Amino acid sequence: MTSAGSRLRDKRCIVTGAAGGIGRAIVFAYANQGAHVVAMDLPEPLEAATWPSDRIAPIAQDLADREMIERTMAEARSTLRGVDVFVACGALKWGTGNFLDLTNRDWDRYIDINLTGTFLTCRAAARAMVAEDICGSIITIGSVNSFMSEPNAAAYVSAKGGVAMLTRGMAVDLGPHGIRCNMIAPGPIDVPNAPSIYEQPKLASEIRREVALQKAGVPEDVACAAVFLAEDGSKYVTGSTITVDGGLSAMIFGGTRDG
Ligand code: NAD
Repeated sequence: MTSAGSRLRDKRCIVTGAAGGIGRAIVFAYANQGAHVVAMDLPEPLEAATWPSDRIAPIAQDLADREMIERTMAEARSTLRGVDVFVACGALKWGTGNFLDLTNRDWDRYIDINLTGTFLTCRAAARAMVAEDICGSIITIGSVNSFMSEPNAAAYVSAKGGVAMLTRGMAVDLGPHGIRCNMIAPGPIDVPNAPSIYEQPKLASEIRREVALQKAGVPEDVACAAVFLAEDGSKYVTGSTITVDGGLSAMIFGGTRDG
């Protein structure tokens, strides 16, 4: 966890996927750095989570529901009286099976929630920033799967690849308004609300072999990058990707060659 400070003092931030492993770490890191945060997620996980700071206001949202997105983004904006930072973190994770068996329904769900949900929330945040002349920061959470695939993940990687190009497209169009748009691409991150990577021996040994740092990351590793992209120190950074993957994407054939 980032130590308490004032790097984001009084910044007004919205985070989707806020009850999840990485989203929650971002919400806490932002509040810890002096920001006011609206935490958005599906009603059930949002209610089950605890928000131990009066700087954090939960608002329920379903990224598959277009009308609800418009309504809840407006509610978040009015709760915070504006928006300086928006983080699109909410998503469904992998698990759609082999491409040959990929159903229309799964394809639609992953594109709707992970890509269209990101587009609609980012557009609402961008419009709010432009309307109030705020040189804000929009941060998408992509993945190393925005650039590289793996078995049984065609719908997930297609949506995450779309998020990478959406982020660049936004950066180009919103640059003249002084709004920065960047993506964080996490690699394997051990999140507390899912079975630990280290309880899965095959995955744990793949990570030791394929990741340069030979271990999985923790949600706070992603949150640190999200703090940097939200603060004024990154004021000349836009259209970029920060990869937080322990060096996974820096090598091929990890550990399988000698010398
Ligand atoms: P997570 O499952 O813990 O969090 C995702 C959150 O999104 C959940 O709280 C979930 O309720 C929410 N969500 C799902 N469907 C939704 C919907 N229809 N409407 C609103 N919210 C919805 O996962 P995480 O590991 O914390 O992942 C967070 C982000 O990081 C995701 O975008 C994921 O793709 C990305 N990512 C994670 C990893 C990893 O190893 N954990 C690696 C690369 C990228």
